[in-house]
Formats: sequence, structure tokens, C-alpha cells
Amino acid sequence: MMKHDTAMGVCDADKCSACGVCINICPKGCISYLKKETGTKVAVINKNSCVNCHLCKKVCPQLDTVEGLESFVCYAAWSFDDTIRTNSASGGIATELYRFFSDKGYKLAGVSMTPMHTAEFSLSDSFESMPAYRNSKYVYSDAGNIYYEVGKNLVNQRGVLFIGLPCQVAALKKYLFVKKISLELLFTVDIVCHGTTPEQFLGEHIEHIEKKKKKKAIHVEFRDPEEKTSSFTFSLKDAEHTFYKRRVKANDVYQIGYHAGITYRDNCYSCQFATRKRQGDITLADFSYVGSYEFCSYSNENVSCVLINSKKGESLFSELCSTDRIFYEKRPIEEEVTTEKQLNYPTRVPREREKFLKEIKSNNGFEKAMKYAARKIMIVNTVKNITHIEKIKQIMSEKLPPNVKNGIKKVLKR
Ligand SMILES: Cc1cc2nc3c(=O)[nH]c(=O)nc-3n(C[C@H](O)[C@H](O)[C@H](O)COP(=O)(O)OP(=O)(O)OC[C@H]3O[C@@H](n4cnc5c(N)ncnc54)[C@H](O)[C@@H]3O)c2cc1C
Ligand code: SF4
Ligand code: SF4
Ligand code: SF4
Repeated sequence: MMKHDTAMGVCDADKCSACGVCINICPKGCISYLKKETGTKVAVINKNSCVNCHLCKKVCPQLDTVEGLESFVCYAAWSFDDTIRTNSASGGIATELYRFFSDKGYKLAGVSMTPMHTAEFSLSDSFESMPAYRNSKYVYSDAGNIYYEVGKNLVNQRGVLFIGLPCQVAALKKYLFVKKISLELLFTVDIVCHGTTPEQFLGEHIEHIEKKKKKKAIHVEFRDPEEKTSSFTFSLKDAEHTFYKRRVKANDVYQIGYHAGITYRDNCYSCQFATRKRQGDITLADFSYVGSYEFCSYSNENVSCVLINSKKGESLFSELCSTDRIFYEKRPIEEEVTTEKQLNYPTRVPREREKFLKEIKSNNGFEKAMKYAARKIMIVNTVKNITHIEKIKQIMSEKLPPNVKNGIKKVLKR
């Protein structure tokens, strides 16, 4: 990390997504991250070694309005492999895409957790390493040198499947454009995204629980499959057991901060990619409102929404459909594009954020800051838990037939 007096930003510090593409392209290695007092890290240039080549400015997706692709077909889909489906955030289509492209000899880019509880990109040769990429990591993911690595493989005529958040897919495409590398052997998937939390807050939360429980976490889940990924259960495991497990509604402060949009990186609240114009050949999302426009015979649990955004996306997804490894059904596109907030506008700043940041800036730590900022949310959750409202809602959701459930949702949405 650099000192402030020798550092200057590549783009506006409130816009920087820490996508890392400027770091990948800088010929002098003089860009690194600086952490703001909000916990958000941003890219800064060490003026002493900069040679003013401007490559970082050319490649930065935040210095431009990045064009996107209009989705033209929408599918509900899931893997026929139950292990893949139930261990994935939605229908396991990401893993099926990894398998499909691995069979074609492509390299596979995705995000896994490190022993330090940070999320990082890597490029894999083998489908066997896919369990690590599977399921959502609700934290900022560090791109490392992934753009450089993808570029190198494409130049060497090796295909790459890249699955990442829209800001990361946009960064990769800009890198390849500036480096004049062909996109022919690249397949991109962007994931609908409502924001990511600075890794510092996850680290503090895990440390806090470890101290309380006198255990050391070696594995973290944000949507623990043992409790169904749809329950959004945060859990920590040591070598033998799960020693901490809590649903959002059971007042896990990390999950509350995430799902209520209190703790995101500063730039996520003005994300230019929270729009119907997409960055990937296809887009993946949780299909929460499947059946809201037209009858469907299944529930929304572990169902992926697949939006097709390019001809390449259309032709390769139809090849995947013909493998008989996935269920797929065409759905009215409105079912996703009109119901999914992140296809229409970025997460709005909730009123709790100001309180949260005030505490963070006063160095009171993540746990205290969240307990102070989200006090009301936690009281409401406690009341719901005592009166079993959440339990009743969950049982109803499991027992009611899908058409009745979708009908109720439709009425509630009005
Ligand atoms: C941070 C985040 C926010 C999301 N927000 C929404 C939302 O608002 N609405 C919605 O409908 N869906 C959202 N999703 C997408 C959704 O939860 C599923 O990821 C998506 O439906 C694909 O599910 P799957 O079952 O096909 O595959 P999964 O196996 O669940 O997805 C795994 C893929 O996601 C990638 N991934 C996981 N965490 C990260 C990360 N931190 N950074 C970059 N890539 C990551 C992995 O590398 C892998 O390629 C979000 C996902 C993430 C990671
Ligand atoms: S102008 Fe060139 S040398 Fe300077 S930071 Fe940007 S990429 Fe690096
Ligand atoms: S390229 Fe990415 S990391 Fe660099 S300044 Fe722009 S947004 Fe930030
Ligand atoms: S909200 Fe936007 S900027 Fe933030 S992580 Fe998601 S895609 Fe990137």
C-alpha cells in the first residue's frame, strides 16, 4: 500500500470497482490498492514510477459508459445432477457450463475462497476443481492477474470460459480490446449482482465468531447447501464440524449487512452494470419470480435464470441443452427483466448505511457498527422468530403448490 502524498487515482475513487484491470495492464507495475476509511479499496498510481503511458485510463471501465448487449431469450434451467443442483446457489447452470466447456478443452475462470477467507479468481484446466468455484461468495472477489492470463491463453489459441460479475466481464473485454486480442475463443457469463462487501468486514466477522467459539474456521459458506442454498444460511466449519450456522433472519450481522445492502463497496451503489444491457454472452441469476407471468409447474427453488445476450450465447447454450444434462424451458423474458431489481437500477443506499459508516470511520469495528446500524432490523427479526412467523412462511413455501405460491407472490407484488 502507498502513502497518500505519492498516490493518485486512475478513476474517481467513488467509482472504482477494484476490478484490477489497470493493475494487469500497467507496464511499470506502479498501480496498487489503497483502502478508504469506508473499508472499500481502490486502485491508485504511484506517481514516482508512472511513465504516463495512459494504458490504465484506456482500459478502466469506469472512465467510460460501457455498452452492453440486450437479452433476447430467457430460460428457466437446472442441472439434472442433484449434487450439482443442490450445492449451487440456483440451478447449477454455472457448473454445467464449466463441464461443457471443459469437454471442449477450454480453460475455466471462476472464484473460490482462500484459506485467508478472501475470494479470488483463478484459471483452471480441470472440471475436477469446480466444487471450489460453485455457489455464491458474498464478498469482493480479487481478480489477481486473471485478465492477463485469459489474454495469454487466447493468444495461444486456447479457449476460455469466464464467469464473473458484470464489472469483471466488462474489464476483461476492455483489456482484450486494448491489447487487440480476438474474442473468438472466449465465452463470457455475467452474474446478476446486487453488490459485494469489502473483504475486511468478512474477515472481522469470522474472527469475532472464532474468538467466541474458540474454533478456527477453515471453510465458510454464504448459502450453506446443508440448509438448502435458498435459505441463505451463513456457516463456518473447522476440520470436523460446522461450529456456526445462522440464517439472515436469525440475525447473522454479516448476512443482514449484505442482504439489506448496508455494507457494500462504495461504488456498488452507482453500478453502471445494474441494467438490462448485459456484459456476458449469457447472464445467470436466481429465478426468484419464475411463474409470475405464465404458469409453471415447478417451484423457484434452485432454478437458474439464463438470459441469452448474443448469437454465440444462443448457439452454445442450445448445444448445452442438447447434452441432456440440464432441464430447460423458455420463459417470458418479462418474468426476469421486470422483476429483478439489478436489471433496472443499482442497490439503493439504505438509511442504515450512514450509521454503519459513522461507526466504521470511528474505528469501532464491524460487529459493533452493524449491531448499532441494524438494531431495528434485528429487533423485527427477533420478534418474527419468537412468534414463528418465519417458520410458518417457510413451511407454507414448501407445502403450497407452485401455482398457488406464484399467485400469492403476484398479489403481494402489486
Ligand atoms: C456477489 C453476488 C451477487 C448476486 N446477486 C444476485 C441478485 O441480486 N439477483 C440474482 O438473481 N442473482 C444474484 N446472484 C447470482 C446467483 O446467486 C447465482 O450465482 C447465479 O444464479 C448462478 O447460479 P448457479 O447455480 O448457476 O451457479 P453457482 O455455482 O451458484 O455460481 C457459481 C459461479 O459464481 C461465481 N462467483 C461466486 N461468487 C463470486 C464472486 N464474489 N465474484 C465473482 N464471481 C463469483 C463463481 O466463480 C462461479 O462461476 C449473485 C451472485 C453473486 C456471487
Ligand atoms: S500511465 Fe502507464 S505507467 Fe502510469 S500507472 Fe498508468 S499504466 Fe502504469
Ligand atoms: S480499472 Fe478497475 S481497478 Fe483500475 S481504476 Fe478502473 S475500476 Fe478501479
Ligand atoms: S454491484 Fe456492480 S460494481 Fe458492484 S460488484 Fe456488482 S457488478 Fe461490480
